[in-house]
Amino acid sequence: IKSQVLADGDRIRMGTGTTLKFSLQDSIEESYQKRLYESATRDTLTRAYNKKFFSERIIEEFSYSLRHNTVLSFVIMDIDHFKSINDTHGHQAGDFVLKTLSEIIHKMIRNEDIFCRYGGEEFVVILRGIQEQGAFLFCERVRKRIESSSFVYHETNIPVTLSLGYSTLYNKNFNNFDELIRKADESLYQAKRNGRNQTRPSIIQVL
Ligand code: GH3
Ligand code: MG
Ligand code: MG
Repeated sequence: IKSQVLADGDRIRMGTGTTLKFSLQDSIEESYQKRLYESATRDTLTRAYNKKFFSERIIEEFSYSLRHNTVLSFVIMDIDHFKSINDTHGHQAGDFVLKTLSEIIHKMIRNEDIFCRYGGEEFVVILRGIQEQGAFLFCERVRKRIESSSFVYHETNIPVTLSLGYSTLYNKNFNNFDELIRKADESLYQAKRNGRNQTRPSIIQVL
C-alpha cells in the first residue's frame, strides 16, 4: 500500500512483530483531556494550582535549582482577618474575595511562575530565577495591588489586604524545600505580628 485514508482505530501491521494503532483525537476529546488535567491540578474555586500539584512542583523546582545552581524564590501570602470578612459579609462573600484575588494575581505573574492555593486563604508562588530583592518587590507589588483593588460583592465594598513572606534559594543556602518554606513562613509570621498588610524583608543568609 502506498497511501490509504486512516480511520480511528485502524491498525497497520509492519512486518511480523509490530502493529501500529491509529487513534484520532478530535477537538472535543482534546478539550476533555485538558479539562480532566485541569480539574486534577487546579482548585475549583480559585483556578489556582492545588496543594497536591504544589507539593510535586516544589520538589522538582528545588532540585532543579540546586543542580543547575539557579536562583529560586518562594512567596507565601495570607489574607488579613479573613475570618472577619466571612463573619461580617457571609461565606459566599468570602468565596468571592478568594476568587477575585486569585484572578488579580493571575494577571500579575509570568507564565513560568507557579501560583497555588496552599490552604483556605493562603496562596504561594514559586518564582523561577528571581533574586531576594526581586521577590520583595514582587510581594510589594501584589500587596499594593490588592490593597487598592475594590472587591464589591452585592454592592458592598469589602476592604482586602494581604500579609506576605518570602525566601530565596541561592548558593545552596537551604538543604531542602521544607527549610525554604519554613523560612518564608517565618517571614509571613513577622509581617502578621508587625501589624499585617506588609511584606517583611527576609534576612540574607550566607553559609
Ligand atoms: P490573620 O490575619 O491572622 O490571617 O487572620 P484570619 O482571620 O485571616 O485567619 P484565620 O486562620 O483565623 O481564619 C481563616 C478563615 O478562612 C477561617 C476559615 O473559615 C476561612 N476559610 C477557609 N477556607 C475558606 C473558603 O474556601 N471559603 C471561605 N469563605 N472561607 C474560608
Ligand atoms: Mg491563614
Ligand atoms: Mg489570614
